[in-house]
Amino acid sequence: MIPVMVPWLGQEEAEAAAEAVRSGWVAQGPRVERFERAFAQALGVRHAVAVSSCTAALHLCLVAAGVGEGDEVVVPSLSFIATANAVRYVGAVPVFADVDEESGNLTAGSVEPLLTARTRAVIVVDQGGVPVDLDGVRALCEPRGIAVVEDAACGAGSTYRGGPVGAGARLAAFSFHPRKVLTTGEGGMVTCDDGAVAARLRRLREHGMSVGAAERHASGSAVPESYGEVGFNYRMTDIQAAVGLVQLRKLPAMVARRRELAERYRELLKGLPGARLVGDPAHGTTNYQSCWLLLGRGHPMPRNGVLAHLAARGISARRGIMAAHLEPPYAGSERVPLPHTERLTGHSLTLPLFHSLTAEQQDRVVEALFETAGTVEGSGGGDA
Ligand SMILES: *Cc1c(COP(=O)(O)O)cnc(C)c1O
Repeated sequence: MIPVMVPWLGQEEAEAAAEAVRSGWVAQGPRVERFERAFAQALGVRHAVAVSSCTAALHLCLVAAGVGEGDEVVVPSLSFIATANAVRYVGAVPVFADVDEESGNLTAGSVEPLLTARTRAVIVVDQGGVPVDLDGVRALCEPRGIAVVEDAACGAGSTYRGGPVGAGARLAAFSFHPRKVLTTGEGGMVTCDDGAVAARLRRLREHGMSVGAAERHASGSAVPESYGEVGFNYRMTDIQAAVGLVQLRKLPAMVARRRELAERYRELLKGLPGARLVGDPAHGTTNYQSCWLLLGRGHPMPRNGVLAHLAARGISARRGIMAAHLEPPYAGSERVPLPHTERLTGHSLTLPLFHSLTAEQQDRVVEALFETAGTVEGSGGGDA
């Protein structure tokens, strides 16, 4: 079976994790601090705050942006469900905007009609690693006092207008789940340039404590702490950070390899009728965290049939990006029609892409896809 994703982990990560264990300090400590500094430096931002997941990162971003009960937050429905869930965590209402059909991302034009007097924030997503056009959304929102949070869960190693994705945001949230390019098992990061915001994020991830456990340990004396607001336990461990430090060094090679493989898919899939492989937008480059293929109107087999056919050929592919408004917690809540979202979620699939994917395996995937274009027989459940 050809898997859809394999994390690029090796001896170096295993050694780094073992060394953290041997040191006796396994919770958030010196390695988390080093990982944060290295991540901030790689992005060219002032502060990076490590947390337990991107979902936790998004939650903290919304708290830091002052979003609360009754506020509205504009988000794409076409995203992993955590984007919308984070809005519910702070008691706010996710308002779904449609995405651009080409990139799968929000645009200023799709966000604007949904802004109301209650809109407090917008979460833009770099979907599958494709950079969102952040500047346009910021120019729309910030003069109105609306915060823009970048869900860069998929974006490590992607670029936007010549710089790293996330670097241009007031608040950006990253994921290090194994389905993403850079992994620490589980983990996330918030980046920002504002020192006061970063300091608050550090307290919020650690129960609202005024003095962190690692700081207290380092000071050598009994520093009394206080708890100024209700915080969370969203800490990353030093074992995860040790792995993250190795992965961060490998990130350029990981992205280069993914881009090389995606380009090979693009070449080989050229003759597939009506199909389109999502790629670089005009304003940046993708890390191909997801390599998704949109089946055009000319494709004879429904998407789920294509997935079933690939599975029968020993190939594990996945449906494309989900749409939150089609899931029970958000069903029927959309205020405007979301035609591009529904088309993309119903007609796209994510192809296997990982560093050790061989040319022979890639050829098998391509061959199986061409088979689906030649026949409608054997197609499973569709969702046109
Ligand atoms: C993966 C993902 C998340 C959630 O990340 P976790 O680290 O698993 O919490 C959030 N948003 C998007 C767009 C994602 O792809």
